[in-house]
Parts: sequence; C-alpha cells; structure tokens
Amino acid sequence: MTEPPNGPDIAAGDAKSTGADKYIGELSSIEEIAAAVRSCTRCGLVGTRINAVPGEGSDSPSILFIGEGPGANEDEQGRPFVGRAGKLLDELLGVVPLLRSDVHITNVVKCRPPGNRDPLPEEVRACRPYLEAQIGLLKPYVIATLGRHAMNRFLPNARISDQHGRATVWRDIVIFPLYHPAAALRSTTLRQTLENDIRQLPEAVLQSLEMSATRSQASSGTDGSVPAGTTSPAPTESSVEDETDQDRLF
Ligand code: SF4
Repeated sequence: MTEPPNGPDIAAGDAKSTGADKYIGELSSIEEIAAAVRSCTRCGLVGTRINAVPGEGSDSPSILFIGEGPGANEDEQGRPFVGRAGKLLDELLGVVPLLRSDVHITNVVKCRPPGNRDPLPEEVRACRPYLEAQIGLLKPYVIATLGRHAMNRFLPNARISDQHGRATVWRDIVIFPLYHPAAALRSTTLRQTLENDIRQLPEAVLQSLEMSATRSQASSGTDGSVPAGTTSPAPTESSVEDETDQDRLF
C-alpha cells in the first residue's frame, strides 16, 4: 500500500477536504482503511493510544454499528466493543439472531480519548474521512448508532430517549439509534429497551431494502409505490437536509 500524502492537518481545525482526505477516500478496501488507521497520526490521540481500533466484521454487512470511540479494553486489544459492553452487545445480537461476523462494528474516532473523555471536535474532524470511507465501501442498509453521541453525529438535534429504536433516513441509509450497551449495563430497564430495539433491526433492514427498490423503480421509470402492507421510514428533517448536503458527514 502506498503511503498517505502529507496533506494539511485538519486536526488543526480545517474541516475542508485535504490531499490526505482524498487519499483516504480513494482507499479501495476495508483492509486498506484499517491499515491506514493503524498508522494514522492525523490527530493528537496518536500520542495516547496503545492501539488504533479501525473496526471489524463483515465486508458486506446489512448493519453497521457505530459507537463514539474505543475504551480501555478496546485500546488494549485493538478491537471494538470487547469489554463488558461489547459482551452485552454480542449477547443481544444473539437474540435477533446475528453474529458479530454478520455485521460490522466501528467507532466515530478510532483511537481512545484519554480517560474516556468525549472526543474533541478537531479529533472527530480528523477521523471523519475514515468513517466516510468505511460507510462508502461497506454500503450498509442500516447504520445502528450506539449511544447519544454517535447518534448526534448523524442526527444533531435528536434526543436518544425519543429516537431510539426509530428508523430515520440519512443519505439514503436508514439510521437506527440505539442506547449504548454500557448504559444498558447500569439499568435493567435500559437493557430491556435495548433488547427490544435490537429485535427491530431486521425490520429496519427490510425498510431500507424497500426504499432501495422504490428508488430503483423510480429511476427506471416504473411504478415506485411501496408494496401494500409494508412501511417505509417517514422522511425526517434530516432526510430533507440531506438532499442539499449529500457529501458531508457531520
Ligand atoms: S483518532 Fe482517527 S484521526 Fe486521530 S490518530 Fe486515531 S485514526 Fe488518526
């Protein structure tokens, strides 16, 4: 793999596309993105990480899970969601049933913020091209965000208590916010809510497939109506916004 060019450092606050961003956008496989993440020095988190955590799972997942950032266990192992919260996620996927290898799991930032603090805006901006590239290559039917922070990257004004378990359209992808498994570890009520929401994921995938079919029919000039007895996610404020801002992820 060729080395990334030395583009301007967007960690310094420049959110415009750079040569380095373009390089990331041109990576042609999930493995190449992972290798670039592991050698990445684009933000200050390189100085405190043990391991970068690119993500793992299927290369053609119907569902992409996105958390906010790695924790201590993930930092040590270089793998996403491997602590107690990750074990709970695996357990709840099992009720669908889904295996971790059926889906793909990653984070907004790929390196652990020290002390599990929230990532800084410049760290999120610096890491954004990797997530953009992953979404572009994986082409999931559904993005399931884990926790409030990851949800707000896509749906900035949404409240997790309102939006969890509800499908919303973003860039022709269904966004399906979920509570973070770590929160579910602290509350049996939230655990049950998270389980109930995860049980709805297959329906969200079906909704996304129906939307794709409708778009294909519309573009081929045939009847684009949704089949009787099925539902599509209602367009939301974000889906309207997306029509004018297709190329930007938070
Ligand atoms: S958080 Fe992202 S941008 Fe920052 S060093 Fe890690 S991989 Fe690079």
